[in-house]
Amino acid sequence: MSIMKLTPDFAASAQLTEADVNKAAAEGFRTIIDNRPDGEDAGQPTAADMAALAARHGMAFEHIPVVPGAIADADVAKMADALGRASGPVLGYCRTGMRAATLWALSEAGITDPETILRTAARAGYDLGPLRPRLAARAAKAAGGVGTTLKVFDVVVVGGGSAGIATASSLLRRRPSLSIAVVEPAATHDYQPGWTMVGAGVFAPEVTRHSMTAVMPDRVTWIKQAATGFAPDSDEVVLVDGSAVRYRVLVAAPGLKLDWNGIPGLSEALGKGGVTSNYRYDLAPYTRDLVRGLKRGRALFTQPAMPIKCAGAPQKAMYLSCDIWREAGALGQIDVEFHNPGAVLFGVAAYVPALMAYVERYGIDLRFGSKLVAVDGPAKVATFERRAADGTAERVERPFDMLHAVPPQVAPDFVTNSPLAGETGFIAVDQSTLRHVRYPNVYSLGDACSTPNAKTAAATRKQAPVVALNALATLDGREPVADYDGYGSCPLTVERGKVVLAEFGYGGTLLPSFPAWLLDGTKPTRAGWMLKSRMLPEVYWRCMLKGREWLASPHRIERRSQVRSA
Ligand code: FAD
Repeated sequence: MSIMKLTPDFAASAQLTEADVNKAAAEGFRTIIDNRPDGEDAGQPTAADMAALAARHGMAFEHIPVVPGAIADADVAKMADALGRASGPVLGYCRTGMRAATLWALSEAGITDPETILRTAARAGYDLGPLRPRLAARAAKAAGGVGTTLKVFDVVVVGGGSAGIATASSLLRRRPSLSIAVVEPAATHDYQPGWTMVGAGVFAPEVTRHSMTAVMPDRVTWIKQAATGFAPDSDEVVLVDGSAVRYRVLVAAPGLKLDWNGIPGLSEALGKGGVTSNYRYDLAPYTRDLVRGLKRGRALFTQPAMPIKCAGAPQKAMYLSCDIWREAGALGQIDVEFHNPGAVLFGVAAYVPALMAYVERYGIDLRFGSKLVAVDGPAKVATFERRAADGTAERVERPFDMLHAVPPQVAPDFVTNSPLAGETGFIAVDQSTLRHVRYPNVYSLGDACSTPNAKTAAATRKQAPVVALNALATLDGREPVADYDGYGSCPLTVERGKVVLAEFGYGGTLLPSFPAWLLDGTKPTRAGWMLKSRMLPEVYWRCMLKGREWLASPHRIERRSQVRSA
């Protein structure tokens, strides 16, 4: 163990052993604070064991267990109390010391300025940079700035993407008198499902992007800046300019972060030398141009570990590319590989046979257990970590002529570092009501929330009316009235003209929108292509974003219980 002194009164450490406690006592520490839940690791001493050890030296002991990424303001209050009660130097510990340092830093905000706190922590080896907005929010609040003369809205929506705009519109359709603010820094709004079609030359890029003004509902207050933190204990959202906005109900929908830097070399390589991704508006046309230009060689398509938005999109890009090469007579000269760290082509078994037929037709080399870990753009070499069934891993280099890469996907930093985050970093909500598990006047939907559905715009289409109804119930002092079944949809574009329309909910339950005679989602169909290429964009722009809930009627919890009791 190494005790990392942050101040004369506080030090942080990784897990303490008996010898460490003896040493800490000898060094004059008077209190030990354990910030680990019991049972995190095999062989970890329990809080009771550690309390007994501390008692042997006459030291006080406090157990304030927190999990990484989910430190609530209530935890900080407990830490601040414990630090305040201490009769001498305090030693906080967890698995690495990071949680102890984080709790100390948050407790200090309001007493010491945030930059000094961050510098102090950095000197002791703890990079707490991502905590900056939360520290600033706490400091401002303590100074009486944030939270005193704030404008209060009935609903504040963070994020004007698919989920945020659909929810604001659904709320206003039901109750036009609501005061709603949408916090959204972007000037444009994207229909991301269209990027697959741009990459195949089916859509022009411009049809997938509208101005934010065009989609922002008329009656909302658009706050044109980014949120940098959530302060749910005081019902506030902190903004990038240091101000804040207060809500009666919060709808958090800031999407997810595409972690382009998570794969060394990828960011620098994108957009030239054959490296592309349909996951960026500006790069989807480059995919189209690359595919049209490739006549022979090796094309690699990669998928990162789950969760990702639209889990089918990495392979959609591949099938459509293969279809173009097939038509051009080039497919026979191109080796196509699909690298996926998972073990299956698609998570819901019912759709796999139809997809496998296309894998065989296009001669695709499926490489499961294979994760893209580095890209050397100039040398045109991709490095993969290949994991065998026995768990052993080896690195494999694959030269390429074209690489379609999809980055790892994580919660936005300001979400991960907020009290709203759950263990995965995403916003922790009940998967049925979409209400936050700790803050009853907070809802979240879309890519940013923790629910285990397929992260898709189709999911947000169904979630938005549920959140709208439940948010209204909360405003009226009632419990949530609607629930969400995990519906998500992935129109798998297996060729230009046919789609395998995967529609499913929690646990992989098939939830087809149409009877099989009209559209059998487990088979490639022209009807599916019509839906994807013609109807869904219209449904998106004209219905979903306007609060017209086509194919998205919310399921009411009361109705089901009435039926049951009837
Ligand atoms: P987004 O639509 O990403 O919106 C998030 C919004 O939050 C953005 O406007 C952003 O500017 C804003 N924001 C970010 N940070 C902040 C901040 N700090 N403060 C305030 N605002 C912030 N879905 C389907 O249903 N079918 C498909 O076929 C399909 N194909 C896809 C193909 C590709 C290539 C991609 C990339 C996605 C695809 N999706 C598909 C997924 C779908 O687009 C997303 O799941 C959906 O957009 C999620 O909506 P959202 O509102 O949660 O996030």
